[in-house]
Amino acid sequence: MIETHTSRVVTLVTFHKPEQIRGLAQLSKLMKKLYGESPLGILACKKFKRISVKVLVVGHGGREHALAWKLLQSKQIEQVVCAPGNGGTASMERCQNLPLAVDDFEGITQFAKKQDISLVVVGPEVPLAKGITDYLTSQGLMVFGPTKAGAQIEASKAWAKALMQEAGIPTARAVVFTEATAAKSYVRAQGAPIVVKADGLAAGKGVIVAETVEQAQIAIDAMFGGEFGSAGRFVVIEECLTGQEVSVLALTDGLTIRPLLSAQDHKRICEGDIGENTGGMGAYAPAPIATPELIAEIQKEVLEKAIAALLAKGIDYRGVLYAGLMITPKGDFKVLEFNCRFGDPETQVVLPLLETPLEELILACVEQRLAQMPPIAWKQGTAVTVVAASGGYPGVYEKGKAITGIEQAEALGTTVFHAGTKAFPGGSLGTRQQLVTDGGRVLNVTAVGENFEQALTQAYSGIQCIHFEGMYYRRDIGHQVR
Ligand code: ATP
Repeated sequence: MIETHTSRVVTLVTFHKPEQIRGLAQLSKLMKKLYGESPLGILACKKFKRISVKVLVVGHGGREHALAWKLLQSKQIEQVVCAPGNGGTASMERCQNLPLAVDDFEGITQFAKKQDISLVVVGPEVPLAKGITDYLTSQGLMVFGPTKAGAQIEASKAWAKALMQEAGIPTARAVVFTEATAAKSYVRAQGAPIVVKADGLAAGKGVIVAETVEQAQIAIDAMFGGEFGSAGRFVVIEECLTGQEVSVLALTDGLTIRPLLSAQDHKRICEGDIGENTGGMGAYAPAPIATPELIAEIQKEVLEKAIAALLAKGIDYRGVLYAGLMITPKGDFKVLEFNCRFGDPETQVVLPLLETPLEELILACVEQRLAQMPPIAWKQGTAVTVVAASGGYPGVYEKGKAITGIEQAEALGTTVFHAGTKAFPGGSLGTRQQLVTDGGRVLNVTAVGENFEQALTQAYSGIQCIHFEGMYYRRDIGHQVR
């Protein structure tokens, strides 16, 4: 049944069988042309629960498990497919893994077309930086995540720094270098501490906060010497900021931008926030330091300026814009970095608090109608996640260790998002005893509580149930808050 009504034209579409949704993307385009609305937009309309769609989530970390978990809370989502997914996504109902690499654009396209995937949600930055959105969109698929041009905001620190400087976004003072001699003499003139950054993507390892000039010079030599491959072709040298870091993930349709709840994560491996940088060892949301006044300032001075600057460059940026900020002891803020995707592990604490259905927000971004959405609704309370990592991470670690205790942790009320896990080969998917470790960060034990203390206590009670050989976790997550 298709009918139209309302002052503008709103088109209501009811499908009775999944087969009838075939070609939804094409139909969506056609109807958008005709009426300025599309059936996917109408999915957001609560009255039409009968429409169901399949979503493909690209990635295999804790962030992607959390995205799939959140999407599956909606009855409108018939199925989520994760490419390639992990042991956790393999064991959820209505969820299946697809053994394809995140940059196998052709394979993902073939599958999505054959299986009537209505929407592709891209988790990690690497496929975005390689142009997954451009490719899939050119094949008629609907994708959440910026184009290759937009993803430069994360994929090139020099590009992002220039954009911030042009747009007047508060950020650390920085100079970009193309060779070591000039970079080293700049460092000598500036003194330490100072921050040395490889321009491109380096999985969190391309940033050295140098305590001495000598450390900075070693980092410069390593970067120009090829340690980070082409990511080190340019080196950004930046003033060292102090304070508390906060992550503000925002959803945007390229014109409107809306922040999600703020979060704080712990990047360093050791308690007391010392030691090597990691992908993140734990997080909590909302971040008490990010008061509503501060978020309003960040919205005005960072998020809106960034979207306007992207638009001025002709970049139609639809997806997540993640601002990593340093809040100085005086309460000023400066952007440390932009990311072009959901944060990991921030997503694992932000999504459990989200009340507005995630797919409604995502579709509003993809269809460029975020401004028409009601305010994003949140649950009261706090979410905390603690990461269980493999011994040796972020350095060398072993994989294949049997994991036990997840059911017990969940029985205590925690949600365990999997990051580096896989179902033991030959074992039936979904049998948790057959799970083994498959990465550095293995699990995110997550709890939602009425307040920070409650969530923290529950997350730690949960993680204490879990065991695998060599397991390591930080015992001081949220120490700034306590
Ligand atoms: P990669 O490019 O290797 O993936 P990344 O994108 O995570 O790394 P950043 O977020 O820019 O890199 O920096 C990582 C961490 O380094 C930050 O979270 C922060 O702790 C620290 N850092 C970055 N810039 C500065 C700065 N100017 N002053 C102080 N600390 C900084």
